[in-house]
Amino acid sequence: MVIERIEIHPLLHRLKQPYGDANGYKKYRSCLLFRVITRSGLDGWGECIDWLPTLTLGFEQRIIPYLLGKQATDRLQLVAVISKWHRRAAAGVSMALTEILAKRAGVSISELWGGRRRATVPVYASFQSYTDAPDWQNSSLQRIAQAISDGFRQIKVKIGGRTLAEDQAHISRLQAEYQDTVQLVLDANQSYDAAAAASWERLFCNWPNLLWLEEPLPMDRRADYKLLRATLSVPLAGGENLQSGSQFLPLLVEGALDVIQPDTMHHAGLDAYRDSLQLARQFGVRASSHAYDGALSRLYAIFAQACLAPWSKMEGDGSEPVEWDVMENPFTRLFSLKPVKGVVHVPQGVGLGVEMDEEMLRAYRWDGRIYQ
Ligand code: MG
Repeated sequence: MVIERIEIHPLLHRLKQPYGDANGYKKYRSCLLFRVITRSGLDGWGECIDWLPTLTLGFEQRIIPYLLGKQATDRLQLVAVISKWHRRAAAGVSMALTEILAKRAGVSISELWGGRRRATVPVYASFQSYTDAPDWQNSSLQRIAQAISDGFRQIKVKIGGRTLAEDQAHISRLQAEYQDTVQLVLDANQSYDAAAAASWERLFCNWPNLLWLEEPLPMDRRADYKLLRATLSVPLAGGENLQSGSQFLPLLVEGALDVIQPDTMHHAGLDAYRDSLQLARQFGVRASSHAYDGALSRLYAIFAQACLAPWSKMEGDGSEPVEWDVMENPFTRLFSLKPVKGVVHVPQGVGLGVEMDEEMLRAYRWDGRIYQ
């Protein structure tokens, strides 16, 4: 199980039209896929996101030289060291070493993690609602119509990037059309104060299809979260950028959230991510993994959600869906896994149990030129 070789595949796609959330626009999508290969021939894929010049230099000069010759089974030690240099790289390395271990054992990722508790995991279509076009609301509604015709029944839409009046007009149009068809998540990306968030309640109280309100406030405003949680008629969710169980704990102890949203890529490895996910069960709240930045991270989020114990009596009602990016982003198609009617069948084969489209690695390879 000695690590013998590591290939890196930096991928870049420039967007035809930038899109975004309350924090601004994205002009490109990128990811770094890498393959860790052991002397015995077993291999595993890792994934991480950052500016590609930073990642490629970091891998070539520091992470790869460190890993070569190490035992793939020493995952926790290796990930702990790399997480001091680059947390997302450490998360990716933990993915690769987890897959190698599953292949060595001849089991699927869910079997390695104690066995799946469900055969399917619900996914919601996740939108970046804003463009700089004057008719952004129309394009947003068209994208939503497409996702619904593709079978999604849960969607996440952005708020907080325009005035309250403009955002509320957008969501009211959406609701007029689709309130009976979809469950809706609204995500403000931490852009409101408590008063602005509370001003939505006059609408929320007439919208029974809201699944949750996501990150209305900065996540360190725990007292305001508690107040909102007591005031609003919809559940509150958050935590996609938190990096460890210790950062979720105060929110849970103080009763500030109904749904926690750990992200595979923001923790120092899958093991730390799963610790955070399990906290939801310790505190009797829901867990819905955030999975915006990559197809491999999302696949691991699906395995982890499938292995979670059922959540109370609501098991089976889709209340803990995983995020599914439906914007222009070719890298969400890297693996042969597609939702059907808003659910994904959890792969059962050895290792990941799905194939990677290696042609895409060639087609989207970053040319090494600096981009902004
Ligand atoms: Mg969010």
